[in-house]
Amino acid sequence: MKLILLGAPGSGKGTMAQKLITNLEIPQISTGDIFRKHLKEETPLGLKVKEIMASGQLVPDEITIEIVKDRLAQDDCKNGYILDGFPRSIVQAQALDTFQDVDKAINIDVDKETIVKRLSGRRFCPTCNGTFHVSTLENSEVCPACGGKLIVRADDSEATVRNRLEIYDQTTFPLIEYYEKQGKLLTVDGNASVEEVYGRILSVLKQ
Ligand code: AMP
Repeated sequence: MKLILLGAPGSGKGTMAQKLITNLEIPQISTGDIFRKHLKEETPLGLKVKEIMASGQLVPDEITIEIVKDRLAQDDCKNGYILDGFPRSIVQAQALDTFQDVDKAINIDVDKETIVKRLSGRRFCPTCNGTFHVSTLENSEVCPACGGKLIVRADDSEATVRNRLEIYDQTTFPLIEYYEKQGKLLTVDGNASVEEVYGRILSVLKQ
C-alpha cells in the first residue's frame, strides 16, 4: 500500500508511521529524517538546509522532490511505503503524481493548542531518532529507548513552532482538498491517545 500521512507538525505523523510500518511491513519515508541525517553527517546538502530547517522554513521543492523520487525508486519501496512529511506543498504533490500513484492520503486532524503543547514538550534522541514527550519521561534528558542524550529540536522552539504552523496553513493545508478531489483522502481525529488514533487509522484503512 502506498500511503501519505498528512497533518500539521506535531500531529503524530512520525509516531503513526512507526506503528504502521511494523503492521504493514513497508518502509517509512520521512523527508525530515532524511534531512536530519544529512545535517548530522554534515554533507553538502546538510549544510545547505541547516539554516532553512532551524528557522522552520521549507527546503526548496526541487531539492525535496529529487530526494523523494530517488528514495521511492529503491527496491524496498516496490510493495509500498508510508510518506511522512512529504508532500508538503501542491507543487510537491503534483510532482509526486508524475512518478507515483499513491493509494490513500491519511489526514491526522489535531487542534492547534494541542499541537503547540505537544511540540514544546517534545524531546528528540539524535542517537536512535526516537521522539518522546516530557510528560511520559522519567528523566527528560535521557532517551528511554537507547540511553542517549535527549535534545529539544532547534525547530521546536516556540517562535519556530509558530512559524512552522503558519507555513503549514499556507502551503501544506491545501493538500487536504487536493487529495479529497482525487478521492484518496481519509481523515482521522488525532486529538486522542497514540493507541486510539492508531486504532482509528487502522479502521479507516479497512473501509
Ligand atoms: P519534519 O520532521 O517532517 O517536521 O521536518 C523537519 C524539517 O525538514 C521541516 O521543518 C523542513 O524544514 C524540512 N522538510 C521536511 N519535509 C519537507 C518537505 N516535504 N518539503 C520541504 N521541507 C521539508
